[in-house]
Amino acid sequence: MVQGTMGYQFQNWATTYSSEPELYFEPTTVEEIRQILELAKQRKKRVKIVGCGHSPSDIACTDDYLIRLNKFNRILQVDKERKQVTVEAGMVLSDLNEKLDELGLALSNIGAVSDVALGGVIGTGTHNTGIQHGILATQIVAMTLMTAAGDTIECSYTVNRELFQATRLHLGSLGVVLNVTIQCVPAFKLHLQQFPKTLTEVLNDLDTHLKASEYFRFFWFPHTDKVTVFYADRTDKPIKTSSSWFWNYAIGYYLLEFLLWISAFFPRLVPWINRLFYWLLYSTKVEQVKRSDKAFNFDCLFKQHVSDWAVPIKQTRAALEQLKDWLDNNPNVRVHFPVEVRFVRADDILLSPCYKQDSCYINIIMYRPYGKEVPRERYWAMYEEIMKRNGGRPHWAKAHSFLRQDFEKTYSAFHKFCSIREELDPSGMFLNNYLEKTFF
Ligand SMILES: Cc1cc2nc3c(=O)[nH]c(=O)nc-3n(C[C@H](O)[C@H](O)[C@H](O)COP(=O)(O)OP(=O)(O)OC[C@H]3O[C@@H](n4cnc5c(N)ncnc54)[C@H](O)[C@@H]3O)c2cc1C
Repeated sequence: MVQGTMGYQFQNWATTYSSEPELYFEPTTVEEIRQILELAKQRKKRVKIVGCGHSPSDIACTDDYLIRLNKFNRILQVDKERKQVTVEAGMVLSDLNEKLDELGLALSNIGAVSDVALGGVIGTGTHNTGIQHGILATQIVAMTLMTAAGDTIECSYTVNRELFQATRLHLGSLGVVLNVTIQCVPAFKLHLQQFPKTLTEVLNDLDTHLKASEYFRFFWFPHTDKVTVFYADRTDKPIKTSSSWFWNYAIGYYLLEFLLWISAFFPRLVPWINRLFYWLLYSTKVEQVKRSDKAFNFDCLFKQHVSDWAVPIKQTRAALEQLKDWLDNNPNVRVHFPVEVRFVRADDILLSPCYKQDSCYINIIMYRPYGKEVPRERYWAMYEEIMKRNGGRPHWAKAHSFLRQDFEKTYSAFHKFCSIREELDPSGMFLNNYLEKTFF
């Protein structure tokens, strides 16, 4: 029988949420996972699986049993003809990227970081950008789940299809995801182009940008009209990077953190910092060629609070203009750069923020320089109000104020997901505070 450890402290990446599970487990076999679920059932304990703890919310917190699947990190099967791999759900994307590259394969899209586990990425609807690309879970073609009863169930487009529509954004609420089969693509490189524009120009030419680049996104610098556009497109050109320790770290990390810390005492500096860093790092044209995963990932710098809602793509202009107008009319509210804007294709995953609608994700950020909290309440409240006004749905990983009645209004398949969850986990073994706010 696998032994649980007492006294383990769980903390998420941003150190904004933590919990002290009664027992912490790192099982090595499927049978051990089943035994932990059985023990939890006997002792009436709840269970949470944690991936890499990167979610900026309490979604992975529990006071009862916490299971980390870090030992479930193998590729189980490779179907070279179909370019599909079956992988254990604890595998971290940074390892998977390397293994796929050795096989001449790659994921067609990944988020900004690869220090995340497959089970976690699928759990929260992790996304990147590219209007022909869905959230990352749309690359999954089959999954194996262990339910609260200890049974294993397979699901895919052809087997248990309804369950498959639910498990590809499971919130950790349906069971333990054991394995996933991923549709990969041949390994590829991306030609990255970064160039300056104004917000008005980008919004006027949005359709052109969406068509011009496979993975188009942009940064808007609040308190200015400045934007940096990022294009990323497949290429056969040789690798060419322009990384410089001085610009990326001395300026882009250490100086920025120091100035943001000073601005916590003198908030009037924030608009000036936004303009300065735009001018120093983002106002010139930059071109690079990188392996795809290295091109998708970027340095997310130091600890931070973020919020990231998806609005229907036709609301992009309205949502951004309303946010800009509000900031312009409230000069006492000073907010950090960037506001990151990304675009994602519609899908059929029951709880996906992109369920049945092409979407624009608008991500806001307030850093915590050297761990110092900076006031963000008014910014967050107005951002959420604007997102709601524009039909927004929050990113599941990132703390938000939506409750069950809001999900019922904005997700036509919410009830379907709830009945699947209630059937698979009638006693609520996989619930925690976050999920109670969602489902009750
Ligand atoms: C620096 C940074 C950058 C980020 N960039 C992006 C981005 O570009 N795009 C984006 O969309 N998000 C982004 N995120 C959010 C991140 O992708 C999600 O929070 C993702 O879920 C993290 O994966 P994880 O392995 O850390 O999951 P965790 O936070 O550990 O867990 C997430 C959920 O999955 C459940 N879970 C995990 N594994 C399993 C399993 N095997 N079975 C059942 N349940 C499981 C957990 O219980 C929990 O409910 C970023 C976060 C950070 C900190």
